[in-house]
Amino acid sequence: MDQVNVLIIGGGVVGCAVAREFAAQCADVFLVESAPHLGAGASTRNSGVNHSGIYYPPGSLKATLCVRGNRLTQEFCAAHAVPYRACGKLVVASSEAEMPALESLCATGQTNGVPGLRLVDRARIRALEPNIEAVAALEVPSTGILNAEELLKAYARHATDRGASLLTRARVTAEEETIEARCVINCAGLFADEVAALAGNRRYRIYPVRGEYCEVVREKADLVRGLVYPVPHQAGVTLGVHLTKTTWGQLWVGPTADYIDDKNDYERNRRPVEEFARSARTMLPEITAADLRLGHTGIRAKLLPPGEHGTADFVITRDPDVPRMIQLVGIESPGLTAALAIAEYVASLAAGIL
Ligand SMILES: Cc1cc2nc3c(=O)[nH]c(=O)nc-3n(C[C@H](O)[C@H](O)[C@H](O)COP(=O)(O)OP(=O)(O)OC[C@H]3O[C@@H](n4cnc5c(N)ncnc54)[C@H](O)[C@@H]3O)c2cc1C
Repeated sequence: MDQVNVLIIGGGVVGCAVAREFAAQCADVFLVESAPHLGAGASTRNSGVNHSGIYYPPGSLKATLCVRGNRLTQEFCAAHAVPYRACGKLVVASSEAEMPALESLCATGQTNGVPGLRLVDRARIRALEPNIEAVAALEVPSTGILNAEELLKAYARHATDRGASLLTRARVTAEEETIEARCVINCAGLFADEVAALAGNRRYRIYPVRGEYCEVVREKADLVRGLVYPVPHQAGVTLGVHLTKTTWGQLWVGPTADYIDDKNDYERNRRPVEEFARSARTMLPEITAADLRLGHTGIRAKLLPPGEHGTADFVITRDPDVPRMIQLVGIESPGLTAALAIAEYVASLAAGIL
């Protein structure tokens, strides 16, 4: 039987950031990933946005870890040449009726400590994004866009440089080989509820929610310079179908949000491009369905059941019944942004175990 100090289950951006953090502190850090390569789950199937922290209830883990993670991620990308665009973002109101929601978003962001927020008029919107139609917007300077795949690779590289072992094609199951660990950290994303159940904890249930994207054809990709979001209408489920200019110059429309039954179902019953065109046109009138091609999809690990309103916070906790295990469940957005801050937080929880 192998014996290690720390066993991390799941090689997404969170698992790799956690491995990097622990490898700086102790020897014998192992990460196991079931897929043939790291980052096959949500970590490379997202919008690649370094979120600011405006959306989450003050005092929640999502708010505190997002605001700290935003700064840490920006610094990390600058220090390690991960492609990053500090473009800021606009959350746009398409009518006067959306102004109270925009103001409330601004107030929440300020309470959460998001720097530089301001409500701006049509003239400022036009100066930043000449093709966007809106009556007003919330300007969020600390939001940025990064290359999620490169970020994950950099976390993994740091972890191995510091001595951690990252194994792929290694699924944790109830039987087969045994590894004894002083501390086990569940970073299994969509499958974190099933991994927790393997250890006897059946409290959690993850509901998969698919997000689909369209890509805008090359000739129209420069209609947007950075990030443009609508005012969110399905609080807790999605931030709304938005426009994202990637670090490599593509323009994405998405993601949608649909509860699905199968955690592995990335492609069945894709939404038609016309729907994306309708959503995009409320902000960018020049877009038509002919300008869009179906793009990638990702699946969110939601704790909020279908039909329920509100937000579910990240669950990051020592397991009440298995004290040497730390559970990370419901790490949906802003998990990419928060990964470095999550890693610090997990290390603080593990201090009493190691
Ligand atoms: C459509 C979409 C858009 C998003 N946009 C953003 C955004 O713009 N900004 C942002 O901050 N966040 C965003 N997110 C959220 C972000 O992508 C996630 O929070 C983050 O990637 C979660 O990382 P993770 O490592 O927890 O999970 P994953 O990346 O899902 O990694 C979990 C890993 O565990 C492995 N695993 C599962 N079971 C086992 C097992 N039994 N044994 C071994 N390995 C196992 C899986 O194969 C997987 O690789 C978005 C998410 C989605 C779906």
